[in-house]
Amino acid sequence: MTDSYDILVIGGGVNGTGIARDAAGRGYRVLLCEMNDLASGTSSAATKLVHGGLRYLEHYEFRLVREALIEREVLWASAPHIIWPLRFVLPHQKGLRPAWLLRLGLFLYDHLGGRKLLPGTKTLDLRTDPTGKPLKPGYRTGFEYSDGWVDDARLVALNARDAADRGAVVKVGTKVSSVRRDGDAWAIEMNGPDGMETARAKIVVNAAGPWVDAVIRQAFAENEAHHVRLVKGSHIVVNKLFDHDKCYFFQNPDGRIMFAIPYEGDYTLIGTTDMDFDGDPDAVTISESEIDYLCDGVSEYFAKPVTRADIVWTYSGVRPLYDDGATAAQEATRDYVLKTEGADGTPKQINVFGGKLTTSRRLSEEVVDDIGHEIGKRGAHWTHDAKLPGGDFAPTAFDAELAKLQKAYPGFAPDVLHRLLRSYGTLAPTVLGDAKSLDDMGETFGAGLTAREIDYMIAREWARAGEDVLWRRSKLGLRLDATQIARVGDYVTERLGGRV
Ligand code: FAD
Repeated sequence: MTDSYDILVIGGGVNGTGIARDAAGRGYRVLLCEMNDLASGTSSAATKLVHGGLRYLEHYEFRLVREALIEREVLWASAPHIIWPLRFVLPHQKGLRPAWLLRLGLFLYDHLGGRKLLPGTKTLDLRTDPTGKPLKPGYRTGFEYSDGWVDDARLVALNARDAADRGAVVKVGTKVSSVRRDGDAWAIEMNGPDGMETARAKIVVNAAGPWVDAVIRQAFAENEAHHVRLVKGSHIVVNKLFDHDKCYFFQNPDGRIMFAIPYEGDYTLIGTTDMDFDGDPDAVTISESEIDYLCDGVSEYFAKPVTRADIVWTYSGVRPLYDDGATAAQEATRDYVLKTEGADGTPKQINVFGGKLTTSRRLSEEVVDDIGHEIGKRGAHWTHDAKLPGGDFAPTAFDAELAKLQKAYPGFAPDVLHRLLRSYGTLAPTVLGDAKSLDDMGETFGAGLTAREIDYMIAREWARAGEDVLWRRSKLGLRLDATQIARVGDYVTERLGGRV
């Protein structure tokens, strides 16, 4: 039987899941299809900042920066387990942007909008401030400002969970292969774990990120589609370079910027690059020249140079930027563009181009408003003040929540509980259940990962492979050896009975 929906959303990245969540919450019948795993595209490959984008001020993107600045605290409040504030240290470098320009930029950044809980900018004397210590001697002035962190892949999983809890049907491993207008609806064909399936929907949202043009060409069978500029960005992860919890914002002589961010407790994340890309977004990897660029860039600043030997992991992703004709990749707009296609009286298609993790909630709100114009309005805006699953505690109350969890589960090591609270928030007790210690959680795989936690990821978060568990629902792949990684993969396959 062919199921009928109001909306088909193509793509389980941050935008597709955000749109599905918002639409389901407004009462639409939603089908979301993701061809691989949730967040397997760009949405697990970001720098993971919830930020206004200080750099975009240089390109006069005031609308985008203001919207993103406002979103920082909205997102933080919605999911304080996976989103939290960070302080960035921007050392003034002689010969690059002058101090007055940095001060002006940061003044605007502090005052363009939305900052209620995040502290404002302050000037540092790097000769005495602890953040000056890992740097080469000679740096005097630095500026410290606020932005936020988000576990990008978990944000996507939580969006999908909330969408499903509100009635959306979420299908992973399901590629939309054909969408054709058929009377007053779209006839849809998709290839999933059970083979070819069909469905109908009144409207289709193409949120396929880097594949958005490919979907227009292949699934919609339209000849011409050249709307996105694919810009690759890579990161390297090295063992922890410094002992404090602040991040660095470094300027490069080429005008680009680079971040060095405390990562997963024991590591430092360094990124990113900006390179035009014309390959298969599924097969994107870091190049030798990007590795050199990132190592050299931060080694200009750190007293101890970063070399290839320090690298423990790398990842790369492709930004699906709207092609605004900018000459340099780094100058292409980071703003999003929504395009509704289709003649009057025929079913419509909404294509989503560009966007940021930070603006994905707003983008979703706008898409669902546009859907309302096309197929009839339902429900009002609701996500601004809503919590994502596990996020129902005050933004500043993480430590209090951790104390509660430790009291309820005294038999668990504090670092295990800390990681579980960061991953699942107030749903951590659902994962832990009646266990008194790790020994009660079934098979252990290393680094505190247990069968019970993987079962939760399978049952509630659509994990279907070891990679989903180790690199997207968590980052425990960083801590397990090859044998342990293989065992996680086997365990997931066993649980799914070989069916993915
Ligand atoms: P994706 O996450 O790529 O999702 C699209 C999905 O569609 C994919 O999962 C794909 O498998 C699926 N799909 C494609 N075709 C089909 C089909 N036919 N059927 C079913 N499914 C299909 N933003 C920030 O706010 N802060 C940052 O710090 C930041 N840093 C970044 C750094 C880098 C290097 C990059 C690359 C991006 C960064 N971004 C950042 C931007 C942000 O990551 C992206 O804007 C966002 O993830 C795009 O999400 P999306 O849902 O549009 O695309």
